[in-house]
Amino acid sequence: MSIIKVEAIPLRIKRDEAYLGGIPDVSDPAAYFTRPPYRALYSAYFETAFVKIMTEDGAVGWGEALAPVAPEVVCTIIEQLLAPVLMGRDPLDGNVLWNVMYDLMRERGYYGGFMLDAISACDTALWDIRGKLLSQPAHKLLGGGYRSRVPCYVSGLPRPTAEARVALALEYVDKGFDAFKLAAGHGVRADADSVKALRDALGEEAALLLDAHWVYALDEAVHLGHALTDMGVGFFEAPINPEDVEAHAQLAAAVAVPIAHGETERTRYQFRPWLMRKAADILQPDVGRAGISEVIKIAAMAEAFNVKMAPHLSVGLGVCIAATIHAAAAIPNLYMLEYQPPVFEIANLLLKSPLICEAGYYEIPSGLGLGVELDEKRIRELQA
Ligand code: MG
Repeated sequence: MSIIKVEAIPLRIKRDEAYLGGIPDVSDPAAYFTRPPYRALYSAYFETAFVKIMTEDGAVGWGEALAPVAPEVVCTIIEQLLAPVLMGRDPLDGNVLWNVMYDLMRERGYYGGFMLDAISACDTALWDIRGKLLSQPAHKLLGGGYRSRVPCYVSGLPRPTAEARVALALEYVDKGFDAFKLAAGHGVRADADSVKALRDALGEEAALLLDAHWVYALDEAVHLGHALTDMGVGFFEAPINPEDVEAHAQLAAAVAVPIAHGETERTRYQFRPWLMRKAADILQPDVGRAGISEVIKIAAMAEAFNVKMAPHLSVGLGVCIAATIHAAAAIPNLYMLEYQPPVFEIANLLLKSPLICEAGYYEIPSGLGLGVELDEKRIRELQA
């Protein structure tokens, strides 16, 4: 069987509340903004990029790249660079096709960023197709589920004050969740105080995690790292600029709290120095940037270094979430998966039957391939 069609679909969906809070009222989709102290560009919309791959015998697979801004870039790469080499190929040749795609622009320096986001969407779509062709859920083809459901933490707590964040966390405690990540990076003392407010309210058993969004210098990160260690924090994510492996290695050597890193990386080559230098204790690749195939390989490499995986899952919608759940099920060295309730709700609006996340666990979709069916009519209406 061979691939006869590859179509990329950019999407924009209006949103009210997001991970970090503070969405300005922006009617122009092209008007992106930053949220100081964070330096990254954000959109007032949920933006994403889907890819639909079809085979000559009618099998259809869906993939999704994480595309928080400018999803048209990923879609252009897919349609102009990747689709021509996928046409006529056998979707069962997943590893071969990953390398074929990766090699296209490698020597020109495109072995990260948008290029890999586009490859990851196609890689995930090929897993969906293979599952359908072979009548198996994707995690079975990955070697099987190490768990019957996937543990997760509530990510973000997008409220402006410590009291409001505690109140929101307690709502989730009532629903059976016991792990929470703060979107922090507001200064060493402010971050430590935010964690303390949660620790005091939730008790010693709750897993508390902190994402600093790369705002700290090494000395500040060491200072905060000691405070987080004392409060039993489960990981300290993105403490320092992501290019600086050496500073993270020094931080990891200086503090006991596990250092988490990885949403900026996409391949095993990019993660290797983090393991070699003992610069991270937990790796966080995103399936929407690395694809299922590469995340599984990164996990295997991490396992050999006694390092755990906590796959990043932010604004990817239903295909990305389902792909991440399958990958997480098939990773032996899993810590926990991310769960962002506002995104999850939007994602389910585009699925014919919803994904389920309850009482601290994702259910693993049991259908063939990724086990989710997109509402394609709705997606065409939202196409950017
Ligand atoms: Mg993060």
